[in-house]
Parts: sequence; C-alpha cells; structure tokens
Amino acid sequence: MKTACINVDVDPLVCYYAIHGIETSGIAEDPVYIHGIRRFIELFDKNSVKGTFFITAHGFDAKNSGILQEIVRSGHEIADHSFSHNYQLTRLPKEEIFQEIKKNKDFLEETAGIVCKGFRSPGYNSSEELISVLKSVGYTYDSSLFPSISYYIAKWLLINLKKLSGHNSKSIISSFADAFGKYTPEFIDKTVRDTKKEGNFVELPMTSLFPIANIPLIGTSIITFPSFLLGWMLKISKSRSFINIEAHGIDLCDAGESSDFDPLKGKQPDLAFSLGRKIERFQRVIDFYKNQGFEFKTLAEVAEMKLNGKLDQQKKGEKNG
Ligand SMILES: [Zn+2]
Repeated sequence: MKTACINVDVDPLVCYYAIHGIETSGIAEDPVYIHGIRRFIELFDKNSVKGTFFITAHGFDAKNSGILQEIVRSGHEIADHSFSHNYQLTRLPKEEIFQEIKKNKDFLEETAGIVCKGFRSPGYNSSEELISVLKSVGYTYDSSLFPSISYYIAKWLLINLKKLSGHNSKSIISSFADAFGKYTPEFIDKTVRDTKKEGNFVELPMTSLFPIANIPLIGTSIITFPSFLLGWMLKISKSRSFINIEAHGIDLCDAGESSDFDPLKGKQPDLAFSLGRKIERFQRVIDFYKNQGFEFKTLAEVAEMKLNGKLDQQKKGEKNG
C-alpha cells in the first residue's frame, strides 16, 4: 500500500511578518487560527483524510485552545513545531534547544490532551543536537528534511535580497547538504541525512519532485503553479511509495478576510489567489492520490509502521528525483 500524508504547519501570522522583516506589535485575532485550521479540518474530514498539524506555542492565544480540541476530536494528529518558532533554533545552546522542545511538548500535551510523537523544525533547519534532543524526549519521528535544491536556492535568494534592501530576515539555512537528502522514510541516527538500516527514530522527508531541481510539492506550489505543471508533478509522483505534502495554515486563508494580511500582500504569493481556487487545488491533489491507491495517514502512523517493519518501501533501483 502506498502512503500519502498531508501536514499543516500552523505558523501564526507573526511568523510571516518575521520572515519578511515586518515590524509588528502583535495580532489580536489571528486568521490562521480562526479560518485556516478550521478549513483544513473540514477538507480532511470531508475526504476521510487523517492529517497532522504542527503546532507552536508562539503566537498562540488561550482562546484558541478549542481549535486544538477540534483537531483531536476529528482524529488528526497534533505534533511539535517548537515553543518559540525560532528560525535560529539550531544555533541555540543544546540546553535551550531542549527547553524549546520540552516546553512545547508539555504545552501541547496539556492543552490538547494528547501524547506528542513527532517534530518539525521552524524553517526546516536541523542539527545533530536537535535530533539528539528529539530522541531524548521520546519522539519517534522528525519531519524536517526538505530534499529540495530549488527550495534552498529560493530561500538563500530571499534572505540575501532582504539584506540588500535593508530588512533583516530571521530565516537561516543550517545545512545546504539537506537539499540532497533521501525522500523516503528512513531510520536516522545523528542527523536528518544519517540513514541507518535499523533504528528507533524515523525521518519523514517532505516531498519534492523532478531530478536536479527537486521542486517542492507543498501548499504553495499546489496553489500557485499553473494547472498543467501541478498535473505533471502529480503524474510523476505516482510511482513513489511515500508522499508527504507540507501545507501551512495560511494556505486556506482568504486575503480579504482580515486586514492583518495587508502588510504581506505582494510578499506572500499565495495570498493573491482566491479561496475557491485553493480549496479546489487541495481537493484535486487528494482525489489524485486516492485514485492512485494511496492511503492517507498521519505522520505518527507512518513512523509507527516503519518502526514495526510494516511500511511498504520504495522499489529497489528507483532513483531519487
Ligand atoms: Zn513553521
């Protein structure tokens, strides 16, 4: 059985302000929590898809705790996205990295009444210290590896163009080598690329497609790419045994529903598209994989299958790309 995952990084709007170097004194009613998450839950439930939501305590308001309960009630997974959503997490001393993970784990487990199993790093940055912390708190998986050369080039350009225009982006690149990682679930030891035949900790990389460029199949590409290009990507991806689509809460927001989107207009390309198109595109992707015989699972379920030797792996000889 082939496996597909959709996961939603619930980054509050203040994270986008930070990426683009926009000063803010905070956001009273974050539309990502009010509209974005709810629409993903509706989309998943309508399609009987089990998804994973990566939640950070950063920008979280206690009045939003009901939405976490809703995620759990619908049978979806809540996973750790760090306490402060600090893009420079991997540059912190190990004890502070530990606090970032442990505090968010405790926050999620108390607020949502769950046991947290996995992690995604803000900005996908990883390090040996970070992986060792994730293992020490009892997680079974990490999903921060983004084997996409085009993503790293785009990110490098964004950081440096911001610098040139006098706005400092909070974004960093911890390792360019991650762009060349594998795209299949693998046991890892020290780093996201340090794969082993056996183990007790799993890396679940996000999906990218095409050799050389490795274009990411993520919410932004699903929404913004021309229809034929998305169709092409889907067609190429169907021979894979594992698809892991990363989306963001903002992907199912409408730029017109809150004035807090105004400073991001022209900076976040997906905000220019209608909500109708966004929902239609995600629906198309879900329909495609279902028709191709993929089964949608949470990342924790995939990690569990890998740990128990029950995950169908890529055919031998199939190339990365
Ligand atoms: Zn994030």
